[in-house]
Amino acid sequence: MTQALAPALEPITEDDAFIAEALTDASIPTLMLSMIHMSGDTALLDGAIRPLGVYLNEVQGYMSDEDKAAVRAQALEVIKRYRDGGCKPVQLSDHETIRRMMSFLVAEEVPMDYVPMMLEEMELDGDARQLDWDAIPVEQRSGFHVTVIGGGMSGVLSAIRLKEAGLSFTVIEKNAGVGGTWYENRYPGCRVDVGNHFYCYSFAPNHNWSEYFAQQPELQQYFEDCLDRFGIREHFRFNSEVVSAAYDEANSQWQVTCRDADGQKQTHTSNALISAVGQLNRPKLPDIEGRDRFKGIAMHSAQWRSDVDYAGKRVAVIGTGASAFQLVPAIADKVAELKVYQRSAPWMFPNVDYHRKVESGAQWCMKKLPFYSRWYRFLLFWPACDGLLPSLKIDPDWPHQERSINEMNEMVREVFTDWMKQQVGDDEALLDKVIPDYVPLAKRTLQDNGSWLTALTNPHVELRTEGIREITEAGIVDAHGELFEADIIVYATGFHANRFLWPMEIVGRGGMTLREQWGDEPEAYLGITVPNFPNLFCLYGPGTNLAFGGSLIFNSECEVRYALSGIKTLLQEGAKALEVKHTVHRDYQLKLQNELSNMVWSHPTVKHSWYQNEAGKVTVLSPWRLRDFWEWTKAINPDDYAFT
Ligand code: NAP
Repeated sequence: MTQALAPALEPITEDDAFIAEALTDASIPTLMLSMIHMSGDTALLDGAIRPLGVYLNEVQGYMSDEDKAAVRAQALEVIKRYRDGGCKPVQLSDHETIRRMMSFLVAEEVPMDYVPMMLEEMELDGDARQLDWDAIPVEQRSGFHVTVIGGGMSGVLSAIRLKEAGLSFTVIEKNAGVGGTWYENRYPGCRVDVGNHFYCYSFAPNHNWSEYFAQQPELQQYFEDCLDRFGIREHFRFNSEVVSAAYDEANSQWQVTCRDADGQKQTHTSNALISAVGQLNRPKLPDIEGRDRFKGIAMHSAQWRSDVDYAGKRVAVIGTGASAFQLVPAIADKVAELKVYQRSAPWMFPNVDYHRKVESGAQWCMKKLPFYSRWYRFLLFWPACDGLLPSLKIDPDWPHQERSINEMNEMVREVFTDWMKQQVGDDEALLDKVIPDYVPLAKRTLQDNGSWLTALTNPHVELRTEGIREITEAGIVDAHGELFEADIIVYATGFHANRFLWPMEIVGRGGMTLREQWGDEPEAYLGITVPNFPNLFCLYGPGTNLAFGGSLIFNSECEVRYALSGIKTLLQEGAKALEVKHTVHRDYQLKLQNELSNMVWSHPTVKHSWYQNEAGKVTVLSPWRLRDFWEWTKAINPDDYAFT
């Protein structure tokens, strides 16, 4: 059982002085709910001392210092009694009490229909996303083989769930280790931008995160640790890349061909295929004249070379997306000269804690106070849940379409612009360059603690916005003809996000390839299943990227449960294959495109965005409430599928 493998709560053995000190690092609203699990007394939910508001990554609820001190004093007494009474937490199961606690924590009414989803996410009820396989004989399960393509976050998750199910499976991973994006992206400064106590599997919390937004090595280590924590290492085949997979209709099986590190190809048979290859995996180099002529060192941000010493070098960075935004501040102090080539300016969102370390007292609370870490997860999740989504819809009657899409978006624009103005001061020239010329929230908004603009204001750093004419042997020539002689060019130019499962050749029924079927418009039912491709389940597939909140781990947990419920249904029905019905798929795509067409991501002020395909159509994003996606993916509806 996964639950048994999650870290158990450690008993409190520390003395009063230690505890009092640890509480100075606590999130006070979270501490208040943990107090209920220690005392069983819910009276504080009606008290005057309470969180006053909620905002993304604000974990103190805007409480005054006096109120926080008062809670700490009360909490110390409650914790002492709990410790001295043998650390017996009070489990709460009444949904109305839980809903009141949720509402208290985030200082707004949480609707009852969100409670079951959030309970699952917080695991107050145990690991509810695990399916029950007992009714299916063990031999039937172990005789069904699944190939998982990719050992990143979704691949590791699939492996954990497949192992619990007792199915036979192999994870094929092209790299030498797990982590996917967190294995490959090793550029300086690379870190997650979803709060880490939420960005980890719901059933595998990590109380030891050293930073609130951890850096790449720690994230990769988390996924690496999961291999042993869940006993799945033996199922991984590293240094092996799936090059093709073909559906054998006669036998209802997939023939999966892999190429190993030595170039040898091998084909094996599988009953089902789970694609866990991610959306942002294949680096995209820009189509700039002369790119191959450069004689210095050139590398993509996702293929960072650790052997390259950039200290004291002249460095050019092309791109100002999420990767460059982290990379530039991390190298700026060490290089001799740095030119950053910007095509579109990014919008940035103030998060002063973006580089903050997790204090030892906060770690202690996570480990020792009952359900503290679970409520803390909720506190991070709720403001990033569905509340923002309506504000991303274009209001056709809004008169200022050239700068915003609705009243809320206009306010967002003002907050973001003020944040940048405060930092840039009276440098009007820089301000002109860094204020985006498209509406806010239309592209990925970046978490900012000020390090980006601080880096750009260094005398040896320059933001160039003229455009690039060509790359020569010596460096970069901009549109004005000015050459920057560079030692290193870094392409922080993103990924082939719209080319799902590329460059693999996936051949479905009737010899149809995914590439032919999709063209430049990849589509999958719920982002997971594809007509003509039986027993293929995509994780983080078309139409599932989140551009308003949530976490891809949440989405993957939904998708994996759905995929496994499909396999479970197959085994229960004694069928060999399932395939989504064309009509179901078509109706879903119409609904999806209809919803997407009203969203900010398609706004005409956006000139370039990886959210759009070449024709400007959005294919990668989800416009759905997390609540709806969770509901729709709880289990497959057999009526949506044709069974063989
Ligand atoms: P990106 O967001 O696609 O940014 C690519 C940058 O390169 C953009 O500034 C783009 O300009 C520029 N560019 C592309 N082609 C160009 C050309 N021909 N000439 C000049 N500039 C060009 O890629 P990314 O920064 O690697 O990020 C991709 C996604 O990965 C992010 O949106 C995010 O989802 C994820 N990511 C997450 C994190 C994190 O969580 N911390 C960190 C890194 C990446 P335009 O804007 O004009 O297209």
